[in-house]
Amino acid sequence: MANYRHILLATDFSEHSEQVANRARDLAEKYQADLTLLHVVENLPIGDSAYGPIVPFDIDLTEQMLESAKTRMAKLAETLAVPEHRQWVEVGSPKAEIIHLAEQQEVDLIVVGSHGRHGIALLLGSTAASVIHHAKCDVLAVRLREA
Ligand code: AMP
Repeated sequence: MANYRHILLATDFSEHSEQVANRARDLAEKYQADLTLLHVVENLPIGDSAYGPIVPFDIDLTEQMLESAKTRMAKLAETLAVPEHRQWVEVGSPKAEIIHLAEQQEVDLIVVGSHGRHGIALLLGSTAASVIHHAKCDVLAVRLREA
Protein backbone atom coordinates (compact mmCIF):
# COMPACT_ATOMS: atom_id res chain seq x y z
CA MET A 1 0.00 0.00 0.00
CA ALA A 2 1.23 3.51 -0.82
CA ASN A 3 2.65 5.49 2.07
CA TYR A 4 1.39 9.01 1.48
CA ARG A 5 3.58 11.85 2.70
CA HIS A 6 1.78 14.94 1.48
CA ILE A 7 -2.00 15.15 1.09
CA LEU A 8 -3.84 18.00 -0.63
CA LEU A 9 -7.41 18.70 0.45
CA ALA A 10 -9.32 20.74 -2.15
CA THR A 11 -12.28 22.34 -0.43
CA ASP A 12 -15.18 24.31 -1.90
CA PHE A 13 -16.54 25.18 1.60
CA SER A 14 -19.93 23.72 0.59
CA GLU A 15 -22.22 22.06 3.12
CA HIS A 16 -20.68 18.71 2.15
CA SER A 17 -17.08 19.79 2.43
CA GLU A 18 -16.79 18.68 6.07
CA GLN A 19 -17.11 15.03 4.99
CA VAL A 20 -14.21 15.50 2.59
CA ALA A 21 -12.14 17.38 5.18
CA ASN A 22 -12.69 14.64 7.77
CA ARG A 23 -11.49 12.00 5.33
CA ALA A 24 -8.38 14.00 4.46
CA ARG A 25 -7.62 14.57 8.16
CA ASP A 26 -8.04 10.85 8.96
CA LEU A 27 -5.70 9.89 6.11
CA ALA A 28 -3.11 12.47 7.12
CA GLU A 29 -3.17 11.05 10.67
CA LYS A 30 -3.00 7.45 9.45
CA TYR A 31 -0.01 8.09 7.19
CA GLN A 32 1.59 10.78 9.38
CA ALA A 33 1.45 12.92 6.24
CA ASP A 34 1.55 16.68 5.81
CA LEU A 35 -1.85 18.17 4.99
CA THR A 36 -2.18 21.12 2.60
CA LEU A 37 -5.46 22.99 2.09
CA LEU A 38 -6.63 24.69 -1.10
CA HIS A 39 -9.70 26.75 -1.93
CA VAL A 40 -10.06 28.38 -5.33
CA VAL A 41 -12.09 31.55 -5.78
CA GLU A 42 -13.50 31.35 -9.27
CA ASN A 43 -13.13 34.41 -11.47
CA LEU A 44 -16.46 36.03 -12.31
CA PRO A 45 -16.63 37.06 -15.97
CA ILE A 46 -18.69 40.22 -16.48
CA GLY A 47 -20.36 40.43 -19.87
CA ASP A 48 -22.54 43.14 -21.39
CA SER A 49 -24.64 41.78 -24.23
CA ALA A 50 -24.96 45.19 -25.97
CA TYR A 51 -21.36 46.35 -25.78
CA GLY A 52 -19.45 43.14 -25.22
CA PRO A 53 -17.25 42.49 -22.21
CA ILE A 54 -15.99 45.70 -20.58
CA VAL A 55 -13.61 44.19 -18.06
CA PRO A 56 -12.81 40.51 -17.99
CA PHE A 57 -13.53 40.11 -14.30
CA ASP A 58 -15.38 41.94 -11.54
CA ILE A 59 -12.31 42.84 -9.53
CA ASP A 60 -14.14 44.20 -6.45
CA LEU A 61 -16.35 41.16 -6.13
CA THR A 62 -13.40 38.83 -6.58
CA GLU A 63 -11.56 40.77 -3.83
CA GLN A 64 -14.56 40.38 -1.48
CA MET A 65 -14.80 36.67 -2.22
CA LEU A 66 -11.08 36.34 -1.65
CA GLU A 67 -11.32 37.98 1.79
CA SER A 68 -14.26 35.82 2.81
CA ALA A 69 -12.48 32.70 1.51
CA LYS A 70 -9.37 33.56 3.55
CA THR A 71 -11.47 33.83 6.71
CA ARG A 72 -13.09 30.46 6.07
CA MET A 73 -9.72 28.95 5.25
CA ALA A 74 -8.26 30.18 8.54
CA LYS A 75 -11.15 28.55 10.46
CA LEU A 76 -10.77 25.24 8.62
CA ALA A 77 -7.00 25.30 9.10
CA GLU A 78 -7.46 25.84 12.83
CA THR A 79 -9.84 22.86 13.04
CA LEU A 80 -7.40 20.64 11.14
CA ALA A 81 -4.26 22.10 12.78
CA VAL A 82 -2.76 23.05 9.42
CA PRO A 83 0.01 25.69 9.59
CA GLU A 84 -0.22 28.91 7.61
CA HIS A 85 2.35 27.94 4.99
CA ARG A 86 0.13 25.03 3.96
CA GLN A 87 -3.05 27.12 3.52
CA TRP A 88 -3.72 28.25 -0.04
CA VAL A 89 -6.46 30.49 -1.42
CA GLU A 90 -6.08 31.01 -5.15
CA VAL A 91 -8.10 32.75 -7.85
CA GLY A 92 -8.85 30.90 -11.07
CA SER A 93 -10.27 27.62 -12.25
CA PRO A 94 -10.58 25.01 -9.45
CA LYS A 95 -9.66 22.14 -11.76
CA ALA A 96 -6.51 23.84 -13.05
CA GLU A 97 -5.41 25.27 -9.69
CA ILE A 98 -5.80 21.93 -7.89
CA ILE A 99 -3.57 20.21 -10.46
CA HIS A 100 -1.07 23.08 -10.46
CA LEU A 101 -0.67 23.25 -6.68
CA ALA A 102 -0.43 19.47 -6.37
CA GLU A 103 2.51 19.46 -8.77
CA GLN A 104 4.15 22.56 -7.33
CA GLN A 105 3.96 21.27 -3.73
CA GLU A 106 4.86 17.67 -4.68
CA VAL A 107 1.64 16.28 -3.27
CA ASP A 108 1.18 12.51 -3.52
CA LEU A 109 -2.57 12.30 -2.77
CA ILE A 110 -5.33 14.75 -3.70
CA VAL A 111 -8.64 14.49 -1.80
CA VAL A 112 -11.77 15.92 -3.44
CA GLY A 113 -15.51 15.43 -3.06
CA SER A 114 -17.64 13.72 -5.67
CA HIS A 115 -21.38 14.21 -6.11
CA GLY A 116 -22.53 10.65 -6.74
CA ARG A 117 -26.17 11.69 -6.72
CA HIS A 118 -25.82 13.37 -10.11
CA GLY A 119 -24.96 10.15 -11.86
CA ILE A 120 -22.11 9.31 -14.16
CA ALA A 121 -23.07 11.74 -16.92
CA LEU A 122 -22.74 14.80 -14.74
CA LEU A 123 -19.79 13.33 -12.87
CA LEU A 124 -17.86 13.41 -16.13
CA GLY A 125 -18.07 17.19 -16.16
CA SER A 126 -17.20 17.60 -12.50
CA THR A 127 -14.11 18.95 -10.77
CA ALA A 128 -13.44 15.49 -9.34
CA ALA A 129 -13.48 13.82 -12.76
CA SER A 130 -11.17 16.44 -14.23
CA VAL A 131 -8.71 16.16 -11.34
CA ILE A 132 -8.68 12.36 -11.61
CA HIS A 133 -8.04 12.70 -15.33
CA HIS A 134 -5.19 15.20 -15.12
CA ALA A 135 -3.42 14.50 -11.82
CA LYS A 136 -0.01 12.87 -11.85
CA CYS A 137 -0.55 11.52 -8.32
CA ASP A 138 -3.29 9.45 -6.66
CA VAL A 139 -6.71 11.06 -6.21
CA LEU A 140 -9.35 10.12 -3.65
CA ALA A 141 -12.86 11.16 -4.69
CA VAL A 142 -14.94 11.07 -1.51
CA ARG A 143 -18.53 10.21 -2.39
CA LEU A 144 -20.67 12.96 -0.91
CA ARG A 145 -23.86 11.93 0.80
CA GLU A 146 -26.90 14.04 1.44
CA ALA A 147 -26.93 15.32 5.02
P1 AMP B 1 -17.75 19.84 -8.03
O1 AMP B 1 -17.62 18.66 -8.92
O2 AMP B 1 -17.34 21.10 -8.70
O3 AMP B 1 -19.07 19.92 -7.36
O4 AMP B 1 -16.70 19.68 -6.84
C1 AMP B 1 -16.27 18.45 -6.38
C2 AMP B 1 -15.06 18.67 -5.47
O5 AMP B 1 -14.07 19.45 -6.14
C3 AMP B 1 -15.36 19.43 -4.19
O6 AMP B 1 -15.88 18.59 -3.18
C4 AMP B 1 -13.98 19.93 -3.84
O7 AMP B 1 -13.19 18.88 -3.29
C5 AMP B 1 -13.41 20.28 -5.21
N1 AMP B 1 -13.71 21.68 -5.54
C6 AMP B 1 -14.76 22.18 -6.24
N2 AMP B 1 -14.72 23.51 -6.30
C7 AMP B 1 -13.61 23.90 -5.62
C8 AMP B 1 -13.00 25.16 -5.32
N3 AMP B 1 -13.54 26.30 -5.72
N4 AMP B 1 -11.86 25.16 -4.59
C9 AMP B 1 -11.31 24.00 -4.19
N5 AMP B 1 -11.82 22.79 -4.43
C10 AMP B 1 -12.96 22.72 -5.14
